[in-house]
Amino acid sequence: MQYTTKSSALWTAIKHEENRQQTTIELIASENIVSDAVREAQGSVLTNKYAEGYPKKRYYGGCEYIDLVEQLAIDYAKKLFGAAYVNVQPHSGSQANMAVYQALLKPGDVILGMGMDAGGHLTHGAKVNFSGQNYQAYGYALNPETEELDYEAIRQQALEVKPKLIIAGASAYSKIIDWQKFRKIADEVGAYLMVDMAHIAGLVATGAHPSPIPIADVVTTTTHKTLRGPRGGMILSNNPELGKKLNFALFPGTQGGPLEHVIAGKAQAFYEDLQPAFKTYIDQVVKNAAAMAEVFNTSELVRVISGGTENHLLNLDLTKTGLTGKDAQALLDSVHITTNKESIPNDPRSPFVTSGLRIGTPAITSRGFDEADAKVVANLILQALANPTDEKALAEVQAGVEALVQKHVIY
Ligand code: PLP
Repeated sequence: MQYTTKSSALWTAIKHEENRQQTTIELIASENIVSDAVREAQGSVLTNKYAEGYPKKRYYGGCEYIDLVEQLAIDYAKKLFGAAYVNVQPHSGSQANMAVYQALLKPGDVILGMGMDAGGHLTHGAKVNFSGQNYQAYGYALNPETEELDYEAIRQQALEVKPKLIIAGASAYSKIIDWQKFRKIADEVGAYLMVDMAHIAGLVATGAHPSPIPIADVVTTTTHKTLRGPRGGMILSNNPELGKKLNFALFPGTQGGPLEHVIAGKAQAFYEDLQPAFKTYIDQVVKNAAAMAEVFNTSELVRVISGGTENHLLNLDLTKTGLTGKDAQALLDSVHITTNKESIPNDPRSPFVTSGLRIGTPAITSRGFDEADAKVVANLILQALANPTDEKALAEVQAGVEALVQKHVIY
């Protein structure tokens, strides 16, 4: 059924974006490339349907097939993570976190999460975010020596500020997180423990990172990062008592009608994540990040924060290059390498400028890059950072990028 003709301006922009994705090396740690089947599910007729409520408890008629779709997403996710309770309706990771706070806290309650300059997310208590405005939020930092989580310092801070909720998990942290240590701290101060595993959910699903599901009271995630699904969020828990509260906090608490076409995309992605090939993929993501860190560690120009990586990402300190994170991001954009500026621990610069870069391997691995390719990419980045105004050197970098994107075609 066609009601109107297509907007050529819109479809030209979409075509350009497709070409941009094809011709650039995507290193934003929170991005990935979904399968054709995930895209088909998202573009399906499910977008036409209202389905407020939950499977078998809807406010609208005609939900019999929608119920099957949403139940499949829930069941696949339960299997993938060994979780007793799953809610697949959050429109995004932020909405998942909002619903958890709504379920467990009252406005003004104290929360303790990772500070943004340490690698935490906006929704973990940043002042510009609802989480820092509606709750009394404190941020924990990294150990200045190791640039890793300092559990004893977090414990001391928790004893001092007495949070009702502790948030573990990060947007830019490259080491394994010890959930048990967070559990102990939460128990000592009588706080709930929420783990936001948005970045590492794919690693948790395959066992490449320890699972927080048996340890935390509640776990949130996005579905579009290492899980390689559509953009969206999810809430999981092993506590059925909390499940009821969490469902109510999401709908009707903070959301209306669920995006069932996106939920179908989530179901398809989780189905893919349950296949043995997904473990092979995640293992390669981790190997590629380690390969890049190895190259950066041999360079005098940049410093890998915390010395290396144990997951899908690494953070670079650019201080010695003389470039800010903002400059480096723009420079790399000009040679078709996409990254994002990132604050380094105790960064003297603002979050809009920064002194670092965050680099992740989920997207390049989805298009087939192996460790040898990852090392080439790291060397191309170093060549660009060392020669920011040298047109010949930058042209060479761009030629290197072109060779790699032609070797690994996406579409
Ligand atoms: N939590 C973490 C740790 C994240 O890194 C992000 C996004 O990058 C989110 C939550 C929020 O996800 P969304 O952008 O879907 O709201």
